[in-house]
Amino acid sequence: MKTSIATVSISGDLREKLAAIAAAGFQGIEIFENDFLAFDGSPREVGKMVRDAGLEITVFQPFRDFEGMPEPQRQRTFDRAERKFDVMQELGTDLMLVCSSVSPLALGGIDRSAADFHELGERAANRGLRVGYEALAWGRHINDHRDAWEVVRRADHPGIGLVLDSFHTLARKIDVESIRSIPGDRIFLVQLADAPMIDMDLLYWSRHFRNMPGEGDLPVLDFMRALVSTGYDGVLSLEIFNDQFRGGSPKSISVDGHRSLVYLMDQVRRLEPEIAIDLPDMPDRIEAKGVEFIEFAANEEEAAELAAMFHALGFELAGRHVSKDVTRWRQGSVGEAGINLVINTEREGFAHSSYLVHGTSVCAIGLKVDDAGATVERSRVLGADPFRQPVGPAELKIPAIRGVGGGVVYFMDAKSELARVWEIEFQPASDGKQPRNAGLTTIDHIAQTMNYEEMLTWLLFYTSIFQTHKTPMVDVVDPAGIVRSQAIENPQGSLRITLNGAENRRTLAGHFIAESFGSAVQHVAFATDDIFKTVSALRANGFKPLEISPNYYDDVEARFALDRDLTDRLRADNILYDRDDHGEYFQLYSPNYGEGFFFEIIERRGPYRGYGAANAQFRIAAQKRHIRAKGVPAY
Ligand code: MG
Ligand code: MG
Repeated sequence: MKTSIATVSISGDLREKLAAIAAAGFQGIEIFENDFLAFDGSPREVGKMVRDAGLEITVFQPFRDFEGMPEPQRQRTFDRAERKFDVMQELGTDLMLVCSSVSPLALGGIDRSAADFHELGERAANRGLRVGYEALAWGRHINDHRDAWEVVRRADHPGIGLVLDSFHTLARKIDVESIRSIPGDRIFLVQLADAPMIDMDLLYWSRHFRNMPGEGDLPVLDFMRALVSTGYDGVLSLEIFNDQFRGGSPKSISVDGHRSLVYLMDQVRRLEPEIAIDLPDMPDRIEAKGVEFIEFAANEEEAAELAAMFHALGFELAGRHVSKDVTRWRQGSVGEAGINLVINTEREGFAHSSYLVHGTSVCAIGLKVDDAGATVERSRVLGADPFRQPVGPAELKIPAIRGVGGGVVYFMDAKSELARVWEIEFQPASDGKQPRNAGLTTIDHIAQTMNYEEMLTWLLFYTSIFQTHKTPMVDVVDPAGIVRSQAIENPQGSLRITLNGAENRRTLAGHFIAESFGSAVQHVAFATDDIFKTVSALRANGFKPLEISPNYYDDVEARFALDRDLTDRLRADNILYDRDDHGEYFQLYSPNYGEGFFFEIIERRGPYRGYGAANAQFRIAAQKRHIRAKGVPAY
């Protein structure tokens, strides 16, 4: 199947759009009439520009309010169609999309519409052109692909076919099984879009909230499985109307779009192995088992501060790199996986350039996977950028790709020598300090913060590469605005990444993005089995928690009907509390480090599923007080 995208889906002028679409790997574009009207070149020049970019025009759209018109409007719509046929011939495309009429003048009746299409088919065929008919979910008489198909069937003309659009079908919850009985060669074009599940007016939903397949909540995969059973082998075209995308980078939206189509076709291929789908081979979604390490880039002075923070959190210096200025910090009982933190103070290489741009921050994450090589291979086919840098004689080549904000994601597996990377690359070391073990067992979650426009990018990135799922979006209330938060989790809960999309710079998340010059890890949360034991060890290590307003605890006590004793302990230790139907959640925060990075310590008592979103506003208020206290202006 050929991949295509409607020019309306991305921002920029036509020239910028074409460059971005071609670079992302698409084969075709839908010319959306307004894009073309706004361009100051002739149709012939536009057609040449598209072909010079290595693309073809898969369809010219939309032609509105065609069928069912009474005279004299009927005659005028045919005249209008002939004018558009002229344009199409100059552009060099043979397919026009007619969407179902919304005109109050339009008359109903399948046969009347079919007769109009038969005549249009004759006129199109005279010029070697074709016409596809699409049911808009809000069409006046035709708003269901089953009715549009009936019009096409009765029009009974080889120049007239059906256009399916996953949004129109799925938004109306029309059974996709009805697609299976349509002959594949009568489907002229398939448009794909997903959308978040929002209960709202269909037209408004469609015009503003569509997103790439896999980014939303609609069962686009079921739609595709039904589609391929028809034998359809034509164009798969993304038609995405989305306010964020229109304001986003044409390049990254195009890359996301292409990734979404490849991922979708890959899923279909695995579920329908008897159907041939033309797609490069790639490994199946990768099982990510957890986080092997988190690497911080710092200069020497800041590394010392970071090390002091690690000590306070109960981490011990465990090793020094054999050839680089890199240290390894550990916590966790012997024999268990535990937690590895790495501080990189090299004066060259990736970590250093990351430090120069972002300041002291997380520059890389190491994920434990089944097969590191296969992970890079799948990522590459899905359009991720492999990451390489020169390695020294004693170093291993650790497979890696570029992740959020230009950070690096390394992959470690147990089947190669990567399993021994700590022994091979690090020598045991000690700084003479023995902080009390704080009982931190694993990394519970990594919180990445980004602009809201980028959130869907990373959601698709993680879910298409790894066997992970996304949780429903929640709003985190910052006194200065809303931050949207959604988590990526593996089935066993050993990999959890929360994505936080900031809409403005005055929110703490937005401030963090501005100060750290881009998307990045904003906090890392460690798990403990006993938060109160952890607190006493931390206290012995000199750890100072983020101070939470005492008022918060009166509310928590009332809200959850907690024992006074428990509330008093929470208040004394600055621990935040939450509960859901599955269990309890205890949270403790470090103060902000550097430009807003912080650590969190959590205990999940029972299979609590969330991340304490309801507490975020109190945490944020406390952090803002802390920032102010340090003399940073309150925004
Ligand atoms: Mg459409
Ligand atoms: Mg958290």
